[in-house]
Amino acid sequence: MQQPKLLSEEKVFKDPVHRYVHVRDELIWDLINSPEFQRLRRIKQLGTSYFTFHGGEHSRFNHSLGVYEVMRRILETFEGRIHLTYEEKLLCMCAALLHDVGHGPFSHSFEKVFRFHHEDWTRAILTGNTKINGILSRMGDDFPKKVAEVIAKTYDNKLIVSLISSQIDADRMDYLLRDAYYTGVGYGNFEIERILRVMRPHEDGIVFKYSGMHAVEDYIMSRYQMYWQVYFHPVTRSAEVVLRKIFQRAKSLYASGYAFQMEPVQLLPFFRDKVELSDYLALDESVVFFYLQQWRLEEDPILHDLCARFIDRNLFKYVEYNPRDFRLLAELKDLFQMAGIDPMYYLEVDTTSDLPYDFYRASEDEERIPIMLRMPGGELVELSQKSEIVKAISGKRRFDYKLYFPLDKVLALPEDVSGKIRERLGVMEDA
Ligand code: ZN
Repeated sequence: MQQPKLLSEEKVFKDPVHRYVHVRDELIWDLINSPEFQRLRRIKQLGTSYFTFHGGEHSRFNHSLGVYEVMRRILETFEGRIHLTYEEKLLCMCAALLHDVGHGPFSHSFEKVFRFHHEDWTRAILTGNTKINGILSRMGDDFPKKVAEVIAKTYDNKLIVSLISSQIDADRMDYLLRDAYYTGVGYGNFEIERILRVMRPHEDGIVFKYSGMHAVEDYIMSRYQMYWQVYFHPVTRSAEVVLRKIFQRAKSLYASGYAFQMEPVQLLPFFRDKVELSDYLALDESVVFFYLQQWRLEEDPILHDLCARFIDRNLFKYVEYNPRDFRLLAELKDLFQMAGIDPMYYLEVDTTSDLPYDFYRASEDEERIPIMLRMPGGELVELSQKSEIVKAISGKRRFDYKLYFPLDKVLALPEDVSGKIRERLGVMEDA
């Protein structure tokens, strides 16, 4: 059995959301100080949201420490209620700390264009030739793999998995509070202290004491609000669209043999689709911004224009879009083409959807395990059976479709062409 290896003195980080983050284990401290984890300081948690909410510039480092702290507190409340070995507790804390370690700069836009998933990079960082792997391996050769399995939700202890990914887990509890705090919005708040106090381990997962139902309701509502008011904000998505178009343009220029004024050395592996772990780890937001500044000076008018838009926040405008209206999109594409505005880079439908809470037990997707309440008599009841508020939004997936385009370019066209396009878009004036 593994003996706890504790620091001679507890380390404490000041944190605006949880007040303090406490580190007692040597292993956790060493993971935090690894280069792969420190890299998260240079990647924003909310990607392009700071264009909409200027306070939202906090990093993934910041959030990862928070998830670790929430997990540490959950384990504290479980003390005496369930037996977890030191290795199991450490497994929970490592998974919490490292669950986002594979995120790259502006993941949402970057991943779509270069077709990869940060989850795969997380696994590669944990199990590949990295400092993090070396540190985790001190707990045993298979420990890095176990951490990766917990994060990938394939680990056989379902209780441990559900603490890091379920409908109410350490990850979500931290990001909802943290993102609300930094963006400055009022509706992301819920009482985490109360939730942690009524949380109980139960067979393969967690349940909540009925007396804490209102705190759980608050959490579900705050999640619902945060998704629609912050995460899916149309302006944030506009910045994502522009960024996606930039990567798409640069990649296609590279493929066509375009001579960049300065070769984008650090991005070449991505353009060539031959990315090593070291290439990926060398990437952060400062690298991306460096290239955006460089490309702004490029001769290619599209790349130059898109980069200037992103840097100066001259983003695309949007209108609501009906996904069944294929004809409209085809017509607009033709009109854009004829007007000399390349629709490939300047016309884009962006779709998003969210399921705020689901009461179904879908076995293949652990995240959708329903939230269970433990009644005073001991029986378990699914949350929406007791909560009218949660019932009202349960199982209802909401979709949102927006059509993005540069209004300034449309307005600069000759009146007859511009009028026709605006009429089809339903934008009559400077919206
Ligand atoms: Zn996270």
